[in-house]
Amino acid sequence: MAKSTRMTFCSFCGKAHNEVRKMIAGPAGVHICDSCVSVCKTIIDRELSDAAEAGKSSRPGKGQSGSRFNLLRPAQITAALDEHIISQDYAKRALAVAVYNHYKRLRSESRVESSAEFADLDSKYDDVQIEKSNILLLGPTGSGKTLLARTMAKMLDVPFAIADATTLTEAGYVGEDVENIVLRLLQSADNDVKKAECGIIYVDEIDKIGRKTDNVSITRDVSGEGVQQALLKILEGTVCNVPPQGGRKHPNQEYIQLDTSNILFICGGAFVGLEKIVQSRVGSKAMGFDTSRNRHQNEVPMSELLRQTQPEDLVHFGMIPEFIGRLPMVAVLDELSCSDLEHILQNTKNSLVKQYSKLFSMEGADLHFTRDAIAAIAEKAISLKTGARALRSIMERIMLDVMYDLPQTDNVERVVINRGVIEGRGKPKLHFRKPEAIKEAGEGNKEKRPSADAA
Ligand code: ADP
Repeated sequence: MAKSTRMTFCSFCGKAHNEVRKMIAGPAGVHICDSCVSVCKTIIDRELSDAAEAGKSSRPGKGQSGSRFNLLRPAQITAALDEHIISQDYAKRALAVAVYNHYKRLRSESRVESSAEFADLDSKYDDVQIEKSNILLLGPTGSGKTLLARTMAKMLDVPFAIADATTLTEAGYVGEDVENIVLRLLQSADNDVKKAECGIIYVDEIDKIGRKTDNVSITRDVSGEGVQQALLKILEGTVCNVPPQGGRKHPNQEYIQLDTSNILFICGGAFVGLEKIVQSRVGSKAMGFDTSRNRHQNEVPMSELLRQTQPEDLVHFGMIPEFIGRLPMVAVLDELSCSDLEHILQNTKNSLVKQYSKLFSMEGADLHFTRDAIAAIAEKAISLKTGARALRSIMERIMLDVMYDLPQTDNVERVVINRGVIEGRGKPKLHFRKPEAIKEAGEGNKEKRPSADAA
């Protein structure tokens, strides 16, 4: 009785327990009230974020901060990309340099606070304007274009949006307005217009908005050239009216104005058939120059031909010259080889083998793929011609039955997948725990493997 009436007080602010919502007791009669806990949390959050900011900008010899962005040097960017993306070195370098230069450009225009990352600007360059260098990624499907963009997004501390060009149409027609791309960027910047104006936008499937025909048509090309024209304005830099709720624009609507001049655009597409356009241009020029090479022309990898892409080839493909002119940096991604696919399966940070191994370990089993099995999966993916994209569906199919059976099969220690399983000639081999091991496991972890005791 006496215990329940005893008054407790917050050791920090001195309030009694009936004056606060919650009182938490510590050792030796110490108490803290809910409002003191939230004050402490605010202090800790603020100090941690200050420390993180200082950490981001502390580089040898330079101590001052000021930039709101996570400034990474090109080599740091490619190193981080290497953890997730196999091969595609040229595209990684091109992206890394473009992103780094993007920051330098913003810095020179004082769009980001002066940062110690870059040397002070020499006044003799005051009149020089650095143009932004948007990027075009060319490469077969499933070669990592979107993955590159997505990984960049996670790594960088800038607003980043991914848009699909195929959903866009010229204003006034069925489909999405191009301004919605900018809206997505604004949303990823938590509606901070200034921050969004320094962001990066990845536009996927850009090849799908190629002009549909070379001939002047009486019907408007609203999803091809019309979209290129609309995108061009945004790429060049314009103040666009973004409908805050998205959807189609309509009169009497409130708009947010956003200047796109400093937004970096990365466009990606497979450009199927572009290699033939390049080949017909390069091939005719090479004729009589190196006959041995001409004889093997058909064996030239597609990426090698694409690397020789000139703006005129892209115009021939259906892109309008002004649009191509706004994408001066062209980076070609290679078709992934069998050994690249094997690496992707096993060695990236979140590789499929690692993901499945984690799932199996949650069932107390080790998952093992023989080298031959890995090679067989890669070969199968190559034959499907969708690059690394095929890997997941192949794996899902192979693993389905064993993933179904494992949770109701006791004492499985190891599951081995060999080539026969991949080729549909066999089933995964299950290795069971020895009885003594089972007993030990049962004693150590009765809840996890209840049947081990029974065994
Ligand atoms: P696309 O080039 O068509 O945009 P994606 O980037 O969407 O291809 O790739 C599809 C999937 O394939 C990715 O989610 C990723 O799992 C895998 N992938 C593709 N290329 C690579 C690569 N170079 N390294 C690692 N994984 C890759």
